[in-house]
Amino acid sequence: MTPTVALSAETQSFLNQPMRNLIDGDFTAGRGEGLAVVDPATENTIAEFPAAGADDVADAVAAARTAFDDGRWRSLPPARKEKVLHELGELMERDLQQLSELDTLDNGMPLAFAQYAVGFAIDTLRYYAGWPTKIEGTLNPVPGEYFSYSSREPVGVCAGITPWNAPVSVAINKVVPALACGNTVVLKPAEQTPLSAVRLAELCVEAGIPPGVVNVVHGDGPTVGSALVSHPDVDKISFTGSTATGRLIQVKAAETMKRVTLELGGKSPNIVCADADLDAATGGSLMAAFANSGQVCYAGTRLFVERSIHDEFVQRLVAASGAMTVGGGFDPASQLGPLVSAEQLDRVRSYIKIGVDEGAELVAGGERIGETGYFVAPTIFANVSNSMRIAREEIFGPVVSVIPFDDEEEALRLANDSEYGLGAGVWTRDVSRAHRLAAGIRSGIVWVNTYGDLMPSFPFGGYKQSGYGREFGSASIDTYTETKSVLLRL
Ligand code: NDP
Repeated sequence: MTPTVALSAETQSFLNQPMRNLIDGDFTAGRGEGLAVVDPATENTIAEFPAAGADDVADAVAAARTAFDDGRWRSLPPARKEKVLHELGELMERDLQQLSELDTLDNGMPLAFAQYAVGFAIDTLRYYAGWPTKIEGTLNPVPGEYFSYSSREPVGVCAGITPWNAPVSVAINKVVPALACGNTVVLKPAEQTPLSAVRLAELCVEAGIPPGVVNVVHGDGPTVGSALVSHPDVDKISFTGSTATGRLIQVKAAETMKRVTLELGGKSPNIVCADADLDAATGGSLMAAFANSGQVCYAGTRLFVERSIHDEFVQRLVAASGAMTVGGGFDPASQLGPLVSAEQLDRVRSYIKIGVDEGAELVAGGERIGETGYFVAPTIFANVSNSMRIAREEIFGPVVSVIPFDDEEEALRLANDSEYGLGAGVWTRDVSRAHRLAAGIRSGIVWVNTYGDLMPSFPFGGYKQSGYGREFGSASIDTYTETKSVLLRL
């Protein structure tokens, strides 16, 4: 293992220990293929360890099944569950710096962004930690000779399969709402970014979550992920990642009729009207597209600009993007880190070439930066048509397509002309226009005069091929519970 510079002593010492799965409360070495974790800023290998094999997945599911069936977690009094979850939140807060460093090391994201994302994960955890005492049923209106109520019960064993773009926060989104509802969990983090999940597993044990209630298995999707999706003892899959993999999971999960929540890809429209505060819209639109180097499912990658301000706005974007600092996540000046992997670098570069070949005008960026690390300059295409591949397919890199529009009707038509429907942005000073556009856009969330802010209290998820089911808010509680109705004849 080769730690990078500027790591805290805690992170250094964490990296010197072997990376393990967590199965039934024990940290065990995987019995699968070797897994190498690469720092995308330096291309150095930072950890190597055996991934989980099929036997490990079977053991993890068996542990989660037993822990669910014997009620060691779901039968705990609600207030007791809350106390344990809050304890996990305290431990995460204590280790916020370490968890952030691990995500920066693994994923490449700027440390400040990782700190923000871990902070958001802690907020999410605290939101759900308060739910066990508030999950209520209903008294159902039935004729007088009957009595009926409906209660909420946990679904059972929930598998969380997560991507590499926000490792801590997506893991918490999967694990904590499930636990708040009394489920048990098997988490499979992305193979590129396993480190913070190893640490989270340790914190779950330290917080007093009973053995078998949270299990973590590391490895690749085709081996470990798909074994979870096929396993008959897994009751629910919660997946965040690409639409292609989501589709595979949905088909496979249908065989055992698992409940499935899919938070998938996007090609989100971001609409800038001529009456917008252009300073705010410029900065907001750049971050909408380039935050986390564009590796964000709801990134605002189709930037629709009203024609009367189009040329001026493009000039503003080019100037502001040219001032952005691209560099390693541990450099405090960095605003954009590297892409996560060599595969992602190749993919993004191939899309930039596709954009040029399609006739879009490359007005900023377009090139790899340096020869070591997977850095790409923030890239802006102007004169893009919504029918070009760069405007239709999820690139997952710092590439934005600027498309002019003439009026609201055209903006809506173009915005909705996508197979995706995850996020959207609207920039305007006209409140009626804001509401008209928000109502007309077919996506799970619309931000007005801001972009990308998520909060644990409101639901988030996709229309169309961006998936289904919602995370955050009470919507997540719905997806981790079954409703049972009881009818008595009096
Ligand atoms: P995937 O969607 O394939 O991966 C997400 C998670 O699913 C990972 O944990 C992965 O495992 C797992 N997985 C992969 N195949 C299977 C399977 N057959 N059964 C169960 N689990 C599986 O994304 P990639 O990492 O391959 O990235 C490819 C593209 O997907 C990106 O370029 C980007 O466009 C998009 N993407 C979108 C995300 C989003 O949030 N919308 C997030 C990540 C990627 P592992 O990676 O360990 O093999």
